[in-house]
Amino acid sequence: MKNVTYSVLLLISFFLQACYIGPSLQSSVTILDRSSWKADPAKSFKSQTPDKITVHHEGTFFDTTNKDAREHIKHIQQWGMGKDRNWADVPYHYFIDYAGIIYEGRDVNTVGEANTNENLDGQIQIALLGNFEEQEPTPRQIHSLETLLAICCQKYSISPDKIKTHKDYSVTQCPGKNLSKYFEDGTIKKQVKKLLDQ
Ligand SMILES: [Zn+2]
Repeated sequence: MKNVTYSVLLLISFFLQACYIGPSLQSSVTILDRSSWKADPAKSFKSQTPDKITVHHEGTFFDTTNKDAREHIKHIQQWGMGKDRNWADVPYHYFIDYAGIIYEGRDVNTVGEANTNENLDGQIQIALLGNFEEQEPTPRQIHSLETLLAICCQKYSISPDKIKTHKDYSVTQCPGKNLSKYFEDGTIKKQVKKLLDQ
């Protein structure tokens, strides 16, 4: 009888874990926390409940041979929190570098920032490093983006239909034509749905 109870508990625990974040999703990407890029503490912020996701390119051409992603993210924070912008933190909730490594940015429960002035409330902001008007995202970036989108959809109960890009909200080229094409032809949404169905 004890064994049966134990097995049932084990089954329930597996089921709950699978509901939270599917192990296959989490294990196929690397997500590093803020200490990886030596983040400064955030200033006070406006809170939000995430209910949609917006994808950006960071906008700086990414030279994969000599640029360190962590240093670059730290620089974005220093610039954004400085006199020019006076933001509470980095503008995005996640960054994805050219190798597909995901970095945590701003707290997901706080409203992001943008250079354009649309209402950002509820949006999880994901930025891929690079300028996709000028260069192509790497296959690893695309894989990590699709996986992170699926993780966020699952974790915050967001429908994949609520995934958009910056230019869906504002007059901007962001996230660049070479990334936008995967949203316009439905490739990314289809893959996210497939990952969520696994
Ligand atoms: Zn953008």
